[in-house]
Amino acid sequence: MAANRQPDRERVMLILEQLAALYPNARCELIHADPFELFIAVILSAQSTDQRVNMVTERLFRVFKTPQDFAQLHPSELEPYIQELGLFRNKARHIIAAAQRIITEFNGEVPQERAALESLPGVGRKTANVILSVAFGVPAIAVDTHVFRVAHRLGLASDRTPEQTEATLRRLIPKELWSQTHHWLIFHGRRMCSAKKPACERCPLLVHCPAGPTYLSTKK
Ligand code: SF4
Repeated sequence: MAANRQPDRERVMLILEQLAALYPNARCELIHADPFELFIAVILSAQSTDQRVNMVTERLFRVFKTPQDFAQLHPSELEPYIQELGLFRNKARHIIAAAQRIITEFNGEVPQERAALESLPGVGRKTANVILSVAFGVPAIAVDTHVFRVAHRLGLASDRTPEQTEATLRRLIPKELWSQTHHWLIFHGRRMCSAKKPACERCPLLVHCPAGPTYLSTKK
């Protein structure tokens, strides 16, 4: 089946409509009770699945919850709780240092400004985007591995870096849909457009997808 090559804006809106219909409940899958718990969960999620992070934080947040709880820890006290996650030593250091700065510089609250967030240890643009969007309702598109892959397969972006991809998606997509598009693309990447075996044969986006026919032809 040939991919439908309609003008970009129209094709983008058709893709977004399809994603909205497919994933009406798309949302952040990291379980959290407040912005600080989300902050911790997002830092822990680097190179780990949300499912695994939720298992870890379910135990962790029973013991430590607030910036004050984390700020007083030595990394060796935090590491045992998170050691099943990749990069756990770095994550422990970053979480403790970030909790200390949140207390001393931000009155114990996760900052709501991008520059302040990105100044915290362990927080890059993607992490800041997730926190801004999910905790504070600021429109943002965090480009993780799923968003990057699915956006490229769908022909929404052809950029080499996540930062460039984010800029392209921000130009293409209406601002009020940025945050939801982030969740839609992640849900699609996790549930249908997986890295190794995209399920193109049952994907409703096939008609809009330049990559789908290629994957289908390799399965024949
Ligand atoms: S058609 Fe295939 S490659 Fe394209 S979005 Fe769907 S699952 Fe992904």
